[in-house]
Amino acid sequence: MQGAVLYGPRDVRFEKRETPKIIQPTDAVLRIAATCVCGSDLWPYRGLQPIDGPTPMGHEYCGFVEEVGNAVKLVKPGQFVIGSFATSDNTCPNCLYGYHSSCIHREFMLRAQAPFLRVPLADGTLVPTPAGTPSHDLIPSLLTASDVLGTGWFAAEAANVKQGGTVVVVGDGAVGLLGVLSARQRGAGRIIAMSRKDARQKLARDFGATDIVTERGEAGTALIKEITKGIGADSVLECVGTQESMMQAIQSARPGGFVSYVGVPHDVTLDGAQLFFSHVHLHGGPAPVRRYLPKLIELILNGNIEPGKVFDLVLPLDQVAEGYRAMDERRAIKALLLPQTV
Ligand SMILES: [Zn+2]
Repeated sequence: MQGAVLYGPRDVRFEKRETPKIIQPTDAVLRIAATCVCGSDLWPYRGLQPIDGPTPMGHEYCGFVEEVGNAVKLVKPGQFVIGSFATSDNTCPNCLYGYHSSCIHREFMLRAQAPFLRVPLADGTLVPTPAGTPSHDLIPSLLTASDVLGTGWFAAEAANVKQGGTVVVVGDGAVGLLGVLSARQRGAGRIIAMSRKDARQKLARDFGATDIVTERGEAGTALIKEITKGIGADSVLECVGTQESMMQAIQSARPGGFVSYVGVPHDVTLDGAQLFFSHVHLHGGPAPVRRYLPKLIELILNGNIEPGKVFDLVLPLDQVAEGYRAMDERRAIKALLLPQTV
């Protein structure tokens, strides 16, 4: 088979890779229905995160179970399944507390930008769609549950978004936009999206944003203070991972407010005294997507949410390099990749 491999900065190739097979008895092999490029893939793509030689890429996936190892009990060949970017056994203490992305047997998925994928700990990681194969038009939305929606959902939960509360979302990438959707689902009263791009502002409004702030830094904070009667927001979702966005988030929250952070931090350092006097709650990390999968799948299948709208570029998988380029240049919010095998 052929799949995406990152060789170095801005050098993604679609080339021959070994077709995955069962290695551990707890593995499954999937035939991928859809995969995509993640904002976090752009860090190594831009050379901002070192790679150790040519690296197979991709960690968002859904598709059909092709084969399972002989210890797999719950997942069956032919099922349509969605899994998280982090594998989990769904039985260890961290999983039972709901922190599946800190499972003691966790592995971070790679290699999903390919027609076939091996998934370790299949029974704990994969969730089948109820009532069989979903209709084709729901596949993009189901794919978002694998990471970007699950991460936005965690961001809203970790920021304690409540009925009627005021929410700020820092970052207008796909995670930020789905953070808006998640805040709306939790009943937020006012959702302020920080975005400078028309297409993203429009989608933010579609997903439930009530206000758009285009300013950043001190000007952005000042405007948010103005909107929140000088106090700051109850909940702030940080969905970027830079020093600037983290400070924007902390400064936008009211004393006693909650800041979640789900953008993978790159060179972020917090000043202890500043944090001390901010009086905010902080909670973030890699989203425990597995915990939310059954609920998110249900919301999508019932037509309550349509998170697949974040895909504004659809490409055959062999054009994966263009997907990276378009997202790097911010021409696309998120690129959906479709293998030719489906
Ligand atoms: Zn676990």
